[in-house]
Amino acid sequence: MSSSDQATRQIHERAVESLREQGYRLTPQRLLILSAVAQSGGHMGVDQVFRLAKEGYPYMDIATVYRTLHLLKKLNVVTEVAIGDRLHYELTDPDGGHHHMVCQVCNGAFNLGAHYLEQFRNTLMEEFNFEPDLEHFTITGVCSTCHDQPSKDNSAKTKSLRPKV
Ligand SMILES: [Zn+2]
Ligand SMILES: [Zn+2]
Repeated sequence: MSSSDQATRQIHERAVESLREQGYRLTPQRLLILSAVAQSGGHMGVDQVFRLAKEGYPYMDIATVYRTLHLLKKLNVVTEVAIGDRLHYELTDPDGGHHHMVCQVCNGAFNLGAHYLEQFRNTLMEEFNFEPDLEHFTITGVCSTCHDQPSKDNSAKTKSLRPKV
């Protein structure tokens, strides 16, 4: 098991604990949904969470997924992140928030430690006396994988750039 798997497991266990602490029963369905969010380090769309949870419990319905995600968000166990034009979910980072870099080609989300934007925040405050709300700040761009290999996803864009004949 890699150390990042272990870290995910710890966050997962903490989430289960805080659910109990706040008096919520950890039903098998809630646990399934929580585990689904914990997989692949989070950044899961509702449909992905639904698909994974359904693997563990075929009678899972999407309304339960929405309701549970809403509850987990309210308990601060799960954080909602807008990636592209869709909402994604991840386990709440116990070490404070992080920002996201989102690839416009593959739609992948990558975590960016909050300290990377400290300087930026200070500059805005010092030079403009402007206090930025960076909680939902997301940087869009192209990830290293998509940079290195012009993928199939790119071809549609390239085509549309060609002059019409
Ligand atoms: Zn990418
Ligand atoms: Zn994240």
